[in-house]
Amino acid sequence: MLKLVRFYGYRGLRIVKGSMQYVWDDTGRRFIDCHAGHGAAFLGHSNPTIVEAVASQARELIAASSSFSTPSLEEALAEFSRVAPPWAEEIVFLNTGSEAVEAALKAAWLATGRRGVVALKNSFHGRTLASLSVTWNPRYRSGAPVLDATFISPTIDPGDVDKRVPRDTAAIIIEPIQGEGGLTRVSPELAKALKEAADRVGALLIFDEIQTGFGRTGRTWAHLELGVEPDIMTAGKSIAGGLPASAVVSRDGVLKSLAGGRHGSTHAANPLSMAAVAAASRLLRGEGVPDKARRAGALLAQLLQERLGGLRPVRDIRGEGLMLGVELRFDPGPVLRCLQESQSVLALKAGATVVRLLPPYAISRRDVEMVAYGLEQCICREAG
Ligand code: PMP
Repeated sequence: MLKLVRFYGYRGLRIVKGSMQYVWDDTGRRFIDCHAGHGAAFLGHSNPTIVEAVASQARELIAASSSFSTPSLEEALAEFSRVAPPWAEEIVFLNTGSEAVEAALKAAWLATGRRGVVALKNSFHGRTLASLSVTWNPRYRSGAPVLDATFISPTIDPGDVDKRVPRDTAAIIIEPIQGEGGLTRVSPELAKALKEAADRVGALLIFDEIQTGFGRTGRTWAHLELGVEPDIMTAGKSIAGGLPASAVVSRDGVLKSLAGGRHGSTHAANPLSMAAVAAASRLLRGEGVPDKARRAGALLAQLLQERLGGLRPVRDIRGEGLMLGVELRFDPGPVLRCLQESQSVLALKAGATVVRLLPPYAISRRDVEMVAYGLEQCICREAG
């Protein structure tokens, strides 16, 4: 048997089943899943609507190149268009978030004829070569021949942005709320300053909504709150209810440079993922998913504040909707282990000190209470 190289630290759990906000391990133990497959299961594990769409598509057609049209691609296009941001006019479908970022950057390079990229400190946009070039973490970048990006602090005075954006910039890319980096939010003033700087030098502004998008923050797209329209937006993670699919949307004329073989991928717009995108987009609107995420998130934030707000080891509680973080004064690793082992709650880390909660939208009041209680227990225990 081959040796499996694991990309991430192994959590010692063998997950055998999922249903909406829960997963079960091979001993039958149930967990409240605030990890949700790095956020991909936001619409719920094995959501019956997604399962039905994928199963019936699988019986009809599984593989077809995007050289052809298919009913599932047509349906995904129609349904995703209904949930896309109002400024968007063009779209390409790909498979992963990193691929969407790669395509967005390539479109910006082709549109501007330049190479320069600007991103924020603590950003995360992926680990493939172009996406890694705009990912800040030196540990991920080390040893790879990445492009030399300009990284600007997300807490910079917006008045200073203009000086920091070089003339040869092709793209400025930001997450409306940093996911992996620690739940730092971009202010409307900073977004506006970045937009103005992009316009001034003739660069394209890219909003990466792979983690924030599709309802997670309590809005269909988090950037709609910023009052700034980008040129390009990337989406991924939950847009196909957990199957691999990502999308890049843009204002008119930006993505057409990717046509004619300039870009592509074997599995891009594959029938299973497209059937899932169509079903997920219908579900997002039909079930009012962003509103539900906003309400559940407000309750979770309130209970976290009540239980943890006064604890000495807790530095800050922040985030939006069901994308929440609890910043500690120490490494959250032991707290995550304690949550998993003694409280049956799965969560993630963000940055060096933040416990990140990305539960599915269906998380119940009782689950939310358990998560807040579990965190209180574990933070107190691990802080000694
Ligand atoms: N951009 C952001 C904002 C992300 O959160 C992620 C994944 N954590 C990515 C890009 C990369 O997506 P993927 O892992 O699907 O390649």
